[in-house]
Amino acid sequence: MKNIITVVGARPQFVKAATLSRQFGLQGVNEKIIHTGQHYDANMSEVFFEEMEIPKPAYQLDIHGLNHGAMTGKMLWGIEEILINEKPDGVLVYGDTNSTLAGALAAAKLHIPVIHVEAGLRSFNMQMPEEVNRILTDRISDLLLCPTDTAIDNLKNEGFSNFHSRIVKNGDVMQDAALYYARKAEQKSDILQKINLSNFVLGTIHRQENTDNPENLMGIIHGLNEINRNTAVVVPLHPRTRNILKQQNIIPEFTIIDPVGYFDMIMLLKSCNMVITDSGGVQKEAFFFGKQCVTMREETEWVELVKNGFNILSGSNSDKIVSAFNESQLRKSDFTMNLYGQGQAAELAVREIIAL
Ligand code: UDP
Repeated sequence: MKNIITVVGARPQFVKAATLSRQFGLQGVNEKIIHTGQHYDANMSEVFFEEMEIPKPAYQLDIHGLNHGAMTGKMLWGIEEILINEKPDGVLVYGDTNSTLAGALAAAKLHIPVIHVEAGLRSFNMQMPEEVNRILTDRISDLLLCPTDTAIDNLKNEGFSNFHSRIVKNGDVMQDAALYYARKAEQKSDILQKINLSNFVLGTIHRQENTDNPENLMGIIHGLNEINRNTAVVVPLHPRTRNILKQQNIIPEFTIIDPVGYFDMIMLLKSCNMVITDSGGVQKEAFFFGKQCVTMREETEWVELVKNGFNILSGSNSDKIVSAFNESQLRKSDFTMNLYGQGQAAELAVREIIAL
């Protein structure tokens, strides 16, 4: 039996890890989870483990609230100690956070095979901490599990065919999660009764380039305030953004709620008019649930959504956000297009991991 250590730490990783953890159970792989502690609030962490039935982490490192270097360094230290004791057959990391890089680096230095789920994504914006994390993680991974053809092309363009790593397109594990949990969400969530709105735009704001840049942040707040005059905008607000708004005494006119669990998020996605976000995952989830999306960034890793008319990149300028919103209201798109696989991404990934 294979023994795999999974390293997670941030909200999007819990959603992704849920899908592989279930498959590990089904396909007889022994998984132990390290939670680095990057996200620690109950509504940013615990709720996902409970709702999505993710196995309780075997290790909690409780590392958060530090600058990037200190955070990554402490994680590296903590993860290395665990790996030396556990001697797993592989270390599994997701996406592009500091936890991803720390997990991959700790394993690679100990010659433990690294498995990267969501490999090959690129924004081509090296100012983003996520871009640095994902490029470095890909380079030291042994198994690169790519969600899209674009991701595979990105790796090929960077010369990965010359490296020892195995590159596989397995599809998008977030599509698996959306399909698997949608029915449970219908049964368990009461968020729609709570917000009590029939026509609303669902928003999320958390990307560092937006929250930490006052001009970008104000552009977004003004843009969403403007849209909110005619169509209610509901934003489950990330703690980072909430803190910055509080510090700067900015009070948005649109509806702010606490971050919601995944079941509530699914129901909001299913019921909204459209989505406005700077999240990576939420752009795709808009597509999964048949909703147009405006992305408040200058670029996206999920280029197929833009190319096929499901997503408009607005940046953070308020006028551009409002005009992208207006344009998207007129669009009629066929959301049956298969861009991300059909819910088998985790199953394929685990088969590849077993064969490692
Ligand atoms: N999400 C959630 N509740 C929220 C906001 C987001 O469950 O209040 C989910 C969302 O549906 C997606 C994941 O968290 O599955 C995305 O996380 P986030 O936007 O924080 O990160 P990114 O995808 O940008 O890395």
